[in-house]
Amino acid sequence: MKRKIVIIGSGFSSLSAACYLAQENNEVHVYEKNSTLGGRARQLKKEGFTFDMGPSWYWMPDVFESFYNDFGKKTSDLYELDRLDPGYQVVFGENESIAIGDSLEKIYAVFEHEEVGSSTKLKRFMASAKENYTIAIQDLVYRPGLSPLELVTPVTIRKINYFLSNIKKDVYKEFKSPKLRQILQFPVLFLGAKPANTPSFYNFMNWADFGLGTWHPKNGMYRIVEGMVGIAESLGVVFHTDASVSKIEVDASGKAKGILVNGSFVAADVVLSGADYHHTETLLEPKHRAYSEAYWDKKVFAPSSLLFYIGLDKKVKNVFHHNLFFDVDFDTHAQAIYDHPAWPENPLFYANFPSTSDPSMAPEGKEACFLLIPIAPDLEDTPELRAHYYDLVLTRLEKLTQQELKSHVLFKESFCVNDFIEDYNSYKGNAYGMANTLLQTAFLRPKLKSKKVKDLYFTGQLTVPGPGVPPALISGKLVAELIHKKT
Ligand SMILES: Cc1cc2nc3c(=O)[nH]c(=O)nc-3n(C[C@H](O)[C@H](O)[C@H](O)COP(=O)(O)OP(=O)(O)OC[C@H]3O[C@@H](n4cnc5c(N)ncnc54)[C@H](O)[C@@H]3O)c2cc1C
Repeated sequence: MKRKIVIIGSGFSSLSAACYLAQENNEVHVYEKNSTLGGRARQLKKEGFTFDMGPSWYWMPDVFESFYNDFGKKTSDLYELDRLDPGYQVVFGENESIAIGDSLEKIYAVFEHEEVGSSTKLKRFMASAKENYTIAIQDLVYRPGLSPLELVTPVTIRKINYFLSNIKKDVYKEFKSPKLRQILQFPVLFLGAKPANTPSFYNFMNWADFGLGTWHPKNGMYRIVEGMVGIAESLGVVFHTDASVSKIEVDASGKAKGILVNGSFVAADVVLSGADYHHTETLLEPKHRAYSEAYWDKKVFAPSSLLFYIGLDKKVKNVFHHNLFFDVDFDTHAQAIYDHPAWPENPLFYANFPSTSDPSMAPEGKEACFLLIPIAPDLEDTPELRAHYYDLVLTRLEKLTQQELKSHVLFKESFCVNDFIEDYNSYKGNAYGMANTLLQTAFLRPKLKSKKVKDLYFTGQLTVPGPGVPPALISGKLVAELIHKKT
């Protein structure tokens, strides 16, 4: 039976769910409060420069390919995808950096150069990471998180130890070089938690990093949004932008009956929200909410971020597409995010120069630069703080890459906690959802199906499987399957 399904928000999880639900012959409408689609993957275009405002790392290309295949397409039908070489560099000081190349052989050589004997250990580490990646994709992440039994398979039982130890412990046991230790712990940051709080099983992210590589869609990450919107529209999905949802209406029997969009009622058979889970529950009367404020307050959230989008009037040297500045203590910064939330005195930061590998991202002879400082959610966000960190980080960037930059800035835009709240209704201004700690994994995450309201569903980075673009694609598929099964 054809049902009318309304979706709140147009992030990757909503786009994914919209495609699957429309493929099942439902009437699907997406309501997005902002004027552009794609959620946090918005693009900023200014004076000939193009900036991806949110995600910039294209990892796990197999997950994207599998999504497109479900709709009879291939990635190459939608955009040109290049593997970056190096995938990224990690800067530890002036003239002190390690570049991660585009093959395991190159990476083994770099490790061996840094620490004698480490390439043999890395080969072992990668073998386990690869095995866990296969298990994760085949047995775990495509599960809806309904029951702990989903995690129990003959394969996962063998891996129980990987859920009892953590990434930091494993890395420290095998590798002595502080630089290699930092590189191997970096992928965990995508999961939103400290390496010491992330189960060893998540070393599958190291396979995603070294084994599967770092890619870039020509013209930027927004091409993914355009590709998915194109598929959705071809299946009949209707998109409504500047359409803020202020209420989810529930009838007397406890069934979702529709939403209020810009003050007007839109009736629906099923309501699905890909907006921030906490925010979505505030659209319900308190008696219909499944989780209390205390529940959300206790959860470990992924960091927020202070971001700068900068147009430079010259080409920048000594940088690649992705650059991690790990020249200060990793643990001290992590403590300021997770243990004692505060603005970090001396932050680690990430710098993205997409125009170094994709000339379409900046005018000729110029460079697009995007800087990201991870910070705790819910921190005070003022113009003075932004100005302080802009100066601090640019000074460090100049010193570490040995060149003058500040006088070459044509313009800069910033984005921080207040914008995450204002633009995305994000809980405490988190940048990318709820962390994947042991106690916030799989069936322990907020549920895809409301426990209180019939025909109300959720998807996105606060649900299963977790933060990141590939998980958002999977989350949309999972919730569509649940809705389909029910109908
Ligand atoms: C700065 C940054 C860098 C990142 N880097 C990477 C990366 O490199 N690689 C990677 O894989 N992932 C990265 N991520 C994470 C990734 O972008 C997210 O996990 C993913 O995009 C989340 O998708 P989503 O569908 O869960 O939700 P969102 O993208 O948050 O979409 C939710 C949508 O709902 C809308 N909405 C909210 N309330 C309402 C309402 N009341 N009415 C209507 N609409 C509403 C919002 O406007 C938003 O468009 C990054 C995120 C950020 C912010």
